[in-house]
Amino acid sequence: STFEELGLAPRLLKGVYHAKFNKPSKIQASSLPMVLGVSAAGEQGAEPPRNLVGQAHNGSGKTACFVLGMLSRVDDQDPTTQALCVVPTRELARQIADVIQMLGKYTDTKVHLAVKQNEPDRRGARRSAARTGPVTDHIIVGTPGKVLDLIKTRALTTSSVRIFVLDEADQMVDTQGMGDQTLRIKRSLPREVQTLLFSATYREEVRVLALKIAPDANQIFV
Ligand code: AMP
Repeated sequence: STFEELGLAPRLLKGVYHAKFNKPSKIQASSLPMVLGVSAAGEQGAEPPRNLVGQAHNGSGKTACFVLGMLSRVDDQDPTTQALCVVPTRELARQIADVIQMLGKYTDTKVHLAVKQNEPDRRGARRSAARTGPVTDHIIVGTPGKVLDLIKTRALTTSSVRIFVLDEADQMVDTQGMGDQTLRIKRSLPREVQTLLFSATYREEVRVLALKIAPDANQIFV
């Protein structure tokens, strides 16, 4: 198949070709239509966007799946946060923010990286929290602890979020407290939020998290 057939907006197609992606990978071809709500006939908006649980390894092209999903669902003329992506490490958050910039090159989408800086003491932590003004970027990518902080301090408003992404969910359930923080973030989002969860393995712990976070999800294994 081709990216044209998958229902991407023209400006995202430009981004995809700018990134030198010539044809969709297997997981992109199978997941993008349901992520975007494109019917089998290629009609956009014909189906409701679906929750998705994807088991996919690095190298499969999964990052572009959820990045294109987020970019498709963001209205860049509306200055509110509409997409939220949580991942287990700062490094991964940075990489994903870079992919959003690359594929979103022909949009006006703004991205905010929500990761904790090294904070030497509690006073330092309080100072840096006080410096944080409201965050209104279209897409927030970060670690669960920092994202939850932003929500709790009301620096981030979640009422316009329509797509919630978890990447490397297996690493999240293995890291003390992260599964719980992720559930708390999910509970702060509108009920009808679309949720995409990706994991390299689909162990029992991941399955339990997926059932709570992305009910009625379509499942994709590659
Ligand atoms: P990922 O599995 O998301 O970590 O992506 C693995 C690598 O494949 C990244 O370097 C992407 O830039 C690249 N990639 C993703 N999708 C495509 C595609 N459709 N065509 C060519 N390269 C791609």
